[in-house]
Amino acid sequence: LTKERFPNLKRGSYGIVDSTDIEFFKNLLGVTNFITGEEVKSYNEDWLKSVSGFSKYVLKPKTTEQVSTILKYCYKRSIAVCIQGGNTGLVGGSVPVFDEVILSTSAMNSIISFNKLSGVLVCQAGCVLENLMNYVQSEGFIMPFDLGAKGTCQIGGNLATNAGGLRLIKYGSLHGSVLGLQAVLADGQILDCLNTLKKDNTGYHLKHLFIGSEGTLGVITKIAIQCPNTPKFVNVSFIGLESFDKVLSFFSLVRKEFSASLSSFELMDAVAIKSVQKNIGIKCPINDNLKFYVLVELSGDNNYISHSIQEFLEKALDENLILDATVADQPSLIQNLWKIRENIPESLLRYGYVYKYDITLPHELFYEIVPEIRKRLKHLDVKAVCGYGHLGDGNLHLNVATIEHNVEIASAIEPYVYEWTSKYKGSISAEHGIGFLKRKYLKYSKSNLEIDLMKKLKNTIDPKKILNPYKIFPQDEIN
Ligand code: FAD
Repeated sequence: LTKERFPNLKRGSYGIVDSTDIEFFKNLLGVTNFITGEEVKSYNEDWLKSVSGFSKYVLKPKTTEQVSTILKYCYKRSIAVCIQGGNTGLVGGSVPVFDEVILSTSAMNSIISFNKLSGVLVCQAGCVLENLMNYVQSEGFIMPFDLGAKGTCQIGGNLATNAGGLRLIKYGSLHGSVLGLQAVLADGQILDCLNTLKKDNTGYHLKHLFIGSEGTLGVITKIAIQCPNTPKFVNVSFIGLESFDKVLSFFSLVRKEFSASLSSFELMDAVAIKSVQKNIGIKCPINDNLKFYVLVELSGDNNYISHSIQEFLEKALDENLILDATVADQPSLIQNLWKIRENIPESLLRYGYVYKYDITLPHELFYEIVPEIRKRLKHLDVKAVCGYGHLGDGNLHLNVATIEHNVEIASAIEPYVYEWTSKYKGSISAEHGIGFLKRKYLKYSKSNLEIDLMKKLKNTIDPKKILNPYKIFPQDEIN
């Protein structure tokens, strides 16, 4: 796939794994954690099936020390390494481009400690997010973030992509909730910044470098994260509206009325809802003929939210600000409403192929690009153009679904969508990262000086550039 779509890409001058290397890895990890043959195929392809490499080997270390030994060895031999967590990333960062050895963190899945007093969880990088959610829930806490990929993505991958997700509006980004981490550098050195205390102003905070580094600066091996207490009351409303202007007016009122309790404000347009109905078979819980839908989650320790949201929605209905709504405060009903929003990416992928754009824009311009792109693609064979996402955080997911990848469609969207975003000072990647697919477009969101400093950092920390090559930076600029 990658070879066909990116014919000009050149393999860096990295070492080729030979029989001595294989023996070394096998001795270190044991045969069950050294994967080769047919089984490697699924590790080579990303979730979107948009890129795939041809690595022959997957290494599954269990401990930080094993990661360190692997990297020390690969560094000496100049063997390129692709770091992989749950492989749910959406920018092609988690799979090899050529024959990089895949270092999977899946076997590093132990919870190390949980402090009930402080709410600080310490765990290995390969813990699946949903397992961590269930674990802390049994102690009366929640994870400070949530994503549709929770059943598969791993916390190390979440940090490496600085995942945003569904509750960022209330709990902030991982730069705030991650207290510390441990990472193994390209040459095998173990960097221990596994701080578990809330306050620490002792010079540069190196942990931040690894949050959002997409596997290019080191392997994150352990994490300390602050978990909030489980809110006593949660309430989710699913609301239909007739125009985007009304969505914005409604958002402004919700924020004014419920600011402290607002934990999600998600937008879905009619095309996104139709896609979930048609391709997954989940029914829209309210009138399915409206133009826009929002999912509002409120959470807090006072039951007033359930009463006041009812009154609030009735008033909004009376005033024709919204056209239909349903409210849930029981866990199973809440989950059903969330399922609609969470299944949008999967439903679109069922058409065959999806061009994904994850952009931040000022609220007033949030949706404008969607009809703009529909117009540009009018004459082409496109199954769906839709807009959804974390409106509360100004983060739009613009998705174009087609039967298969098509060069004409791709060039009608790119770089137009990035130029448009840059013109309005938005971000070309709100939460998915740059990875492999967006590396050409980094310049639309970062100045030359910023990119230059990023490269200097990369070259200092990983001078042989063995970690996740071909990612974040355009190839000619880094390899
Ligand atoms: P992977 O996909 O395996 O890797 C992602 C990147 O991180 C790669 O560059 C990889 O090299 C690097 N990496 C992985 N583990 C490590 C490690 N231990 N150390 C160093 N580098 C590492 N993202 C959001 O931000 N918000 C959402 O709401 C959201 N919703 C999603 C919904 C669906 C259905 C899907 C499929 C994806 C969604 N994503 C979302 C994208 C994706 O789930 C996130 O980027 C997630 O954080 C990736 O975690 P992962 O373990 O799958 O990482």
